[in-house]
Amino acid sequence: MSDRSPAEPETSEPAFSSSTDADPTPDTPGDTDAAPETGLDPEPAPATAAEALDTYEVLIVGGGVSGLMASVYTARASLDTVVINAGEPILARNAHLENVPGFPAGINPRRFLDLLRSQATRNGVDRRAGRVTGLDMDDEGRFIATVEREADRRGGRVSDDGDTGTEPYRIAGERVIAASWSDADYLDALGVEIRDAGSKRYVDDDGLGRTNVEGLYVAGRLAERYHQTVIAAGHGAAVATTLIHDSAVPFYHDWVVPEGYFTDRGRDVPPGCEEITETERRARERESMAAMREYFAEPHPERQRTHPSLVDDPLGRVPKREREE
Ligand SMILES: Cc1cc2nc3c(=O)[nH]c(=O)nc-3n(C[C@H](O)[C@H](O)[C@H](O)COP(=O)(O)OP(=O)(O)OC[C@H]3O[C@@H](n4cnc5c(N)ncnc54)[C@H](O)[C@@H]3O)c2cc1C
Repeated sequence: MSDRSPAEPETSEPAFSSSTDADPTPDTPGDTDAAPETGLDPEPAPATAAEALDTYEVLIVGGGVSGLMASVYTARASLDTVVINAGEPILARNAHLENVPGFPAGINPRRFLDLLRSQATRNGVDRRAGRVTGLDMDDEGRFIATVEREADRRGGRVSDDGDTGTEPYRIAGERVIAASWSDADYLDALGVEIRDAGSKRYVDDDGLGRTNVEGLYVAGRLAERYHQTVIAAGHGAAVATTLIHDSAVPFYHDWVVPEGYFTDRGRDVPPGCEEITETERRARERESMAAMREYFAEPHPERQRTHPSLVDDPLGRVPKREREE
């Protein structure tokens, strides 16, 4: 990243409860896609080449499973990456996640999201809270995102990442991955091919995540992939790999292998791969065991979420309209 302003808030590694009470994204026809009212007016001025903005090599809109997984891939390929997320990923509505790899008895979906966020942060991803309300290009070919910070429904914290600012801000990305199910409105100024399907809008891609706008990619549910967690995560990874191949970064595979795996066969370690010693392997294993013990020491502290048309407090699942009568 270049031009980072010291005044701009840094994201921090979250504790294990990191979601806000912001409205989750809709998943049924008739749900509103409208962003929560923030009362903030960004009034962005046109971007110019001279404008000093935080500039990332990859800017990802949406911190659900697809955006987070994409970010892990781009960051591990040494591309400076930021994820901007508003509200809760839709997976937070799930009651127990039973069909993702590696969890034979299932996993609390909020825990799963915590793990993904931690994985992103650990791999060097910057995560920021905020709703991208517009995306355009400056005369240097950078994508410029206008970001509104969001107040949560309790009117308390503005974000879940330590960001306590309130003013809208702008941020630049050389490439963008849109992973913002179910919001595509901020893409309209770029002339992206978007399909309207009832109350939904899907972004067209070339099958590998590229849109008709060079440098703009789409991942996850927004690209109309199947509505499943692993598929969204896998698609994020696949689209990120397309982006890496399109960039100047030399890349073969993102693999960690035992010492000598390539070099003992007279090969250089390919770009993106890493050979580690047995000592290092044991250290990493111990670290991962300690981390997992901590992650799974207690039940997740957050309450179950449900569809926004229902009351999702611990007392019941009463439709809002009945509750208000
Ligand atoms: C009730 C329910 C239960 C489910 N159960 C399962 C299950 O058991 N197994 C399974 O495999 N799948 C399940 N799914 C499906 C799975 O959760 C989704 O397919 C998957 O999480 C989609 O991920 P995504 O990253 O594409 O979208 P999302 O998780 O929606 O991520 C998009 C993110 O972008 C944010 N965002 C949107 N607009 C903007 C913007 N303008 N600026 C910044 N951020 C923005 C959103 O708030 C969200 O955090 C379930 C879904 C639901 C609704």
